[in-house]
Amino acid sequence: MKSFTIKDPIHFNGIGLHTGVNTNIILKPAPINSGIFFNRADKSIIIPAKWDNVISTKFSTNIASDGVEVKTVEHLLSALAGLHINNCEILIDNVEVPILDGSSDIFVKSILKKGLKEQDSEQNILEIIKPVKFSCDYGYAELIPNSSNDEGLNINLQSSFDGKYEDQDIKISNLNGNYIESISKARTFGFFQEIEYLKSQNLIKGGSLDNAIVIKNKKPLNKDGLRYDNELMRHKVLDVVGDLYLSGYPVIGTYKGFKTGHFITNNLLKELFKTKENYKIHKIN
Ligand SMILES: [Zn+2]
Repeated sequence: MKSFTIKDPIHFNGIGLHTGVNTNIILKPAPINSGIFFNRADKSIIIPAKWDNVISTKFSTNIASDGVEVKTVEHLLSALAGLHINNCEILIDNVEVPILDGSSDIFVKSILKKGLKEQDSEQNILEIIKPVKFSCDYGYAELIPNSSNDEGLNINLQSSFDGKYEDQDIKISNLNGNYIESISKARTFGFFQEIEYLKSQNLIKGGSLDNAIVIKNKKPLNKDGLRYDNELMRHKVLDVVGDLYLSGYPVIGTYKGFKTGHFITNNLLKELFKTKENYKIHKIN
């Protein structure tokens, strides 16, 4: 697969889900081998979008370099991963990526409208060679090598919403061809009875029914309902795709998990990178 950047700069503006601050971002074309990186324009600090720059994972994935942070990077990274963009500068003038509609749909559509630019170099891919697993007291995730009839990245998730919503499973095979239609429109979600707690933790200051599904008594409060039957699970897949892109590569393998979230996926990447025996970096046609 060739390397891709974007053709022309693309501007987005909006509020952050957790901080509520208004932020501008400009996606800019970047040369071969730049990777994906944030540039906090107001602080002149570059923050590579890498798993070892993650500083917290409480309700969003937050990265930092030299004490300068960018919060809630996962939906934008998910869009870039889904579109196979591996070189991009993300100029940002405040602390949190805009939440927009709570999914990656607006990022994806705007990028496709401007167009991708193929670059004269093959992308490096990370292929899972040995199974790795991370477990904590409430859930787990593992990355295992693909079986012979699987291609690309496959994601199998099981949920338990502890009675707040119907438990669901999801199995998405070969994300590569499926991301835009099956995943990108799935919005972030929360449970009505947790809103006060989240606010008390200084979170979701920018949250509203315009950028999140809110579930009360197992039903969405949003007047137009859900975009997919299992939109919550599809959003969990969207988050996994974004959080896995902090590996720095498109991943070939199968991700399985139960009650996954940003914390579990980041710790799974830490396990993965403990030894080079777990993976192989190479190019595919
Ligand atoms: Zn999310």
